[in-house]
Amino acid sequence: MSIEFIYPEFEVIRNESRCIACRVCERQCANEVHSYDPERGIMVADESKCVNCHRCVALCPTRALKIVKSDCALRENANWPQSTINEIYKQASSGGVLLSSMGNPNPLPVYWDKILINASQVTNPSIDPLREPMETKVCLGKKKQEIRRDENGKLVCEMTPQLELSVPIMFSAMSYGSISYNAHASLARAATELGILYNTGEGGLHEDFYVYGANTIVQVASGRFGVHKDYLEAAAAVEIKMGQGAKPGIGGHLPGAKIVGDVSRTRMIPEGTDAISPAPHHDIYSIEDLRQLVYSLKEATEYKKPVIVKVAAVHNIAAIASGIARSGADIISIDGFRGGTGAAPTRIRNNVGIPIELALASVDQRLREEGIRDNVSLVVGGSIRSSADVVKAVALGADACYIGTAALIALGCHLCRTCHSGKCNWGIATQRPDLVKRLNPDIGSKRLINLVRAWQHEIKELMGGMGINSIEALRGNRLMLRGVGLNEKELQILGISHAGE
Ligand code: SF4
Ligand code: SF4
Repeated sequence: MSIEFIYPEFEVIRNESRCIACRVCERQCANEVHSYDPERGIMVADESKCVNCHRCVALCPTRALKIVKSDCALRENANWPQSTINEIYKQASSGGVLLSSMGNPNPLPVYWDKILINASQVTNPSIDPLREPMETKVCLGKKKQEIRRDENGKLVCEMTPQLELSVPIMFSAMSYGSISYNAHASLARAATELGILYNTGEGGLHEDFYVYGANTIVQVASGRFGVHKDYLEAAAAVEIKMGQGAKPGIGGHLPGAKIVGDVSRTRMIPEGTDAISPAPHHDIYSIEDLRQLVYSLKEATEYKKPVIVKVAAVHNIAAIASGIARSGADIISIDGFRGGTGAAPTRIRNNVGIPIELALASVDQRLREEGIRDNVSLVVGGSIRSSADVVKAVALGADACYIGTAALIALGCHLCRTCHSGKCNWGIATQRPDLVKRLNPDIGSKRLINLVRAWQHEIKELMGGMGINSIEALRGNRLMLRGVGLNEKELQILGISHAGE
């Protein structure tokens, strides 16, 4: 018998005077926390299984429930917090790697919160977005270095394939398998309605979603799950996934329990087998190899679709991005260390990678210095939480942002961070049919559309306040940013002045 005891992290507080024993909480909790005790005629709870997802709280018809963090704690020790001790207990009894979901929750600096945006005052007046046109449209892809005219003096407007977005926001890669069919349907429909794109992640494209192809980015990851000619042809762009912010340097692992039915068919692997993406692409060991894959994908899609290369933000990201820009890729996507995931080893998620703000600033700077900034567009992700983060990212040099966690929260995610259990009570990160149907794609897509439209409006207001009327004029305009509480080195990397300067 194990001698350690981990006291439950959360307590279920039930107001007995309000509880009518309707058993809604019992039916709603996939973690089987609640049950009815017929002898005592009351509801009881096994708190050790509670992950604080708030499903029961939200659906309790009499508001009888509250989930609180337990205050039963070990003796205080700044060096050995209770969470660390509990992790050691778990590993000592299981012998296994600790798994987590969603992004790094540790209190490391969030640079977005240390950057402030400028506003016009007397000269260069601000612009009222309700009365004057504001352009939030962006086109992603290589840009021409020079203007050319034909022999008759007419402009030659040949462009390499571009992705046109109504607003510089896309839904980031989330695979069918890690998230549910209804979550994918919500993302696909919302992207189509909004004139932006969503991303299949590495799980293939379900046949029902081919109709949304013009608004779909398909991924080619190291596992090559679900990759075939029709898949590539169906999409507006192809993304080669080299890395992911939540787990740089390692591959992916979707447990066999989630490889069921359509998920297994879409991934083209047998039911119940673990979907393991190797850490590297086994055909890529240099920029030259990457270039071969970029051009193979262009060839396969008749040079009609932009190719994106997605990498995790790591220490030498500027040099990596410079190589990718020379590989023929049209777009580089960089994922910061707070990026979400359906499952990642906790140690990797919490300790590997760098903040997206610093990665973006150094990549944009390096590509400018090398005169190749217009060869590629830059898309950044990894905890973009609001329209202000989008504006700051664009001013630091991004062409667009990927949002993942924010999109899931719009769908109802309560950030309980147990997606890897497959028991998402909100119907998002699960394949259990009874849970999947809790997310209605009509409502889900509407909520995503509302979110992006609200952000679009806020982006226009923030730009108007700066006296800027287009994303193009904002991009890389670091004069619009000031830092607070940052040291010289951080300011230098971000390429911004301190507030007051
Ligand atoms: S896991 Fe979620 S639904 Fe279950 S008791 Fe905890 S908060 Fe309620
Ligand atoms: S997707 Fe579901 S399981 Fe994952 S954090 Fe959100 S609510 Fe929890």
